[in-house]
Amino acid sequence: MKKRIAIFGSTGSIGTQALDVVAANPDKFEVEILTARSNDKLLVQQAKKFHPNAVVIVDESRYTAVKDALSSTHVKVFGGEKALDEVAAFDTYDMMLAAIVGFAGLKSTLTAIESGKAIALANKETLVVAGDIVMQKAVEKRVPVIPVDSEHSAIFQCLLGETRNKIEKVILTASGGPFLGKKPNFLVNVKKEHALQHPNWSMGAKISVDSASLMNKGLEMIEARWLFNLQPEQIQVIVHPESIIHSMVQFEDGSIKAQMGLPDMKLPIQYALAFPHRIPNTLPRYDFTRSAGLHFEQPDIKTFRNLALAGEALHRAGNMPCILNAANEIAVYGFLRNRIGFLDMMEIVERTMDKISFIQHPSLEEYFESDAAARNFAASLIHI
Ligand code: NDP
Repeated sequence: MKKRIAIFGSTGSIGTQALDVVAANPDKFEVEILTARSNDKLLVQQAKKFHPNAVVIVDESRYTAVKDALSSTHVKVFGGEKALDEVAAFDTYDMMLAAIVGFAGLKSTLTAIESGKAIALANKETLVVAGDIVMQKAVEKRVPVIPVDSEHSAIFQCLLGETRNKIEKVILTASGGPFLGKKPNFLVNVKKEHALQHPNWSMGAKISVDSASLMNKGLEMIEARWLFNLQPEQIQVIVHPESIIHSMVQFEDGSIKAQMGLPDMKLPIQYALAFPHRIPNTLPRYDFTRSAGLHFEQPDIKTFRNLALAGEALHRAGNMPCILNAANEIAVYGFLRNRIGFLDMMEIVERTMDKISFIQHPSLEEYFESDAAARNFAASLIHI
């Protein structure tokens, strides 16, 4: 039986790579749903190639273009944000690849969990914002949440066969991004073109900026807390510029397990889609004999304040990670439009965390309210 996959965010970096994995394994996977926000042309191309049951274009002004382009096919076309939820509740697919970027991915992922669908989770913001509610719901519905983020995929793989063994800590590796070793006098002048040049990974714009500011690693600490039920003290970040070790788990006896490989997101995507099986591929292999060595260092949290702010949000818990995430989404948006500088992003996050009311045990509604309040406040700081 082929696994029927719904790819939410199919036109993005993760979504397109997932479709490459599907195309390379036509005997194992078929595409049931594809969704995009506004890239109607690519969505139509994908639909013509993969013949899904349904597609969603969130931007309603492009609905007619998609509908017309697919009129000679059997593909059902939906438009608007609400349609994401509607198709997430379909019973015709087995697994959702949650690859929408940002808070926008939360609702449809929750709906898929409610409907008992396995989740391959790329959208880390879902767990940053409402990890307690999402994971609780997954446990209730007995839904597996398989991480796609390479670090969490690594930890997930290290933990297989270790259910009875206590974790001393997990060690999240960070490449350090394009500005590793740089100081504020340099960072004050960097532009989006520099921030988007990641040395090891090719990714969407938002996560590329997050990687450059180390917010990505901060979000990943919070993601790890919920995925693996960890205490904040059990999560360590180290910089590993080569991105060969994707992350590690240290057990009670001091033994450390690592998962390694060349940095290529197709590998964790394929792993999540095929889980519990490993399937062959032709991706390049890491060759130890040609290695120039693996290096490790402490992250510079004084310069890259975002990592410290995310650590603070992780410790304070409640709605603080949600506030951090919303402020960061607005700050990154402002940076990508050249409205603010690189270091301003960290200040916006910090000021928003100080401003928005703290709630220790928020309901889902309160998470949505916190998100909106934090966005409004952060936007007021940069006049957007
Ligand atoms: P991209 O920006 O490349 O793609 C985002 C996708 O989501 C696109 O299909 C986009 O549609 C869609 N989208 C954007 N905004 C909305 C919205 N408001 N509502 C509905 N759909 C929307 O992002 P990435 O693929 O890089 O990242 C996706 C997620 O995966 C993020 O959460 C990221 O942190 C995570 N991740 C990404 C990695 C990577 O290597 N890229 C690695 C690990 C995690 P459209 O194209 O039409 O705008």
